[in-house]
Amino acid sequence: VTVTDLVKESFDRIEATDDKIGAFLTLNEDAFEQAKRMDELAKTSDDPLFGMPIGVKDNIVTKGMRTTCASTFLENFVPAHDATVVERLHDAGAVTIGKLNMDEFAMGSSNENSAFKPVRNPWDPTRVPGGSSGGSAASVAAGQVLFSLGSDTGGSIRQPAAYCGVVGMKPTYGLVSRFGLVAFASSLDQIGPLTRTVEDNAYLLNTIAGHCDMDSTSAEVEVPDYTAALNQDLTGMKFALPEEFMAEGVAPGVREQIEKAIETLKSLGATIETVSIPSVKYALSAYYLLASSEASSNLARFDGIRYGRRAEADTLDEVFTYSREQGFGDEVKRRIMLGTYALSSGYYDAFYKKAQQVRTLMKQDFAKVFEEYDAIVGPTAPTTAFKLGEQLDDPLTMYANDIMTIPVNLVGIPAISVPAGLSEGLPVGLQIIGNYFDESTLYRVAHAFE
Ligand code: GLN
Repeated sequence: VTVTDLVKESFDRIEATDDKIGAFLTLNEDAFEQAKRMDELAKTSDDPLFGMPIGVKDNIVTKGMRTTCASTFLENFVPAHDATVVERLHDAGAVTIGKLNMDEFAMGSSNENSAFKPVRNPWDPTRVPGGSSGGSAASVAAGQVLFSLGSDTGGSIRQPAAYCGVVGMKPTYGLVSRFGLVAFASSLDQIGPLTRTVEDNAYLLNTIAGHCDMDSTSAEVEVPDYTAALNQDLTGMKFALPEEFMAEGVAPGVREQIEKAIETLKSLGATIETVSIPSVKYALSAYYLLASSEASSNLARFDGIRYGRRAEADTLDEVFTYSREQGFGDEVKRRIMLGTYALSSGYYDAFYKKAQQVRTLMKQDFAKVFEEYDAIVGPTAPTTAFKLGEQLDDPLTMYANDIMTIPVNLVGIPAISVPAGLSEGLPVGLQIIGNYFDESTLYRVAHAFE
């Protein structure tokens, strides 16, 4: 097959399915040109990503291609450069097919916060794909692209991967460059791959991981070949199952599939023990304070002067106010207000500082678990994909979707969601959580479920 064939197949599939799914916000008009050039040069490459169609979440900047963060604020924003991850994928020969729908500025768990259109779950279009990387997960599940990139601040790669039955990896904080990722909460954000298979996922991480001079939080670590871990067996491995992850809120059908997955791990020679990580019960509150605080600061750059939308106004103050009032959706405003309040003098110690202390406590608790266990397992999310509209009026229920994914971001460790069976016809995700920079172990374990 030629690169042109692959790109054509991807566009045909989008044409046939995306009216129903809504995964794409922008298509790359140059994709065929690029494919043709690659075919003409007959450049041969053994890079497994060579010629592969890829979708990119719309909060990752792409040179000359509209990058909206699914916000009317950036509806017409065309970046002047590529994010490091995009540059690395292009160097490997991947072809960007387009930009993927998401919750506005990555705030949400259902993709209903997109300013343009919701994304629908390919398994059942009356249901959400999860969020905020809903477009990234749905496009892979629907076969529109083979690979996609998402971002994960509190679960936004793993929860949609679980709801759409695909593989989603949130790497260790600092492993993948954030240069060119529009910041939501800088101390939590990570870019990661969503794919059909664990092997594809490992190839994609191989390509995007590694130090980047343009990101001051980028780690200086050796990047292993993640595919090397895939065929190692699980004999003798020790897993921890936190009782807090199997508590009341977990739907019976999800629990059943996770228990089956645990039996599978045992049958492969691993041992599993129930542990308690008491501090995870504070994770949700700490996260929504910290993430909102960082967001209120990061989103201050959207002032109507420097990027995107500028409202009609008479004075400079009015430019700021009207641009933000018209450009941001309700959820984004809610976070900015919450964050600004939590950071204001007089409240800082009670909220932001307290939440940072919880974060330290959680780091210590997880470190203790990893002294004894190779990895932590549990559900990715408490339920399967819910119906569109079902949680829209209730932000707190919506926030609770991330109860099992958020601790991972607060601690900064990696986690993968891998499909682990169906409950009433809908995919269930098994989450495997590892120690810092131990993505190889996660791929090794996840591969056992294929
Ligand atoms: N659902 C969470 C939130 O709304 C996580 C978002 C994310 O990971 N980007 O903040």
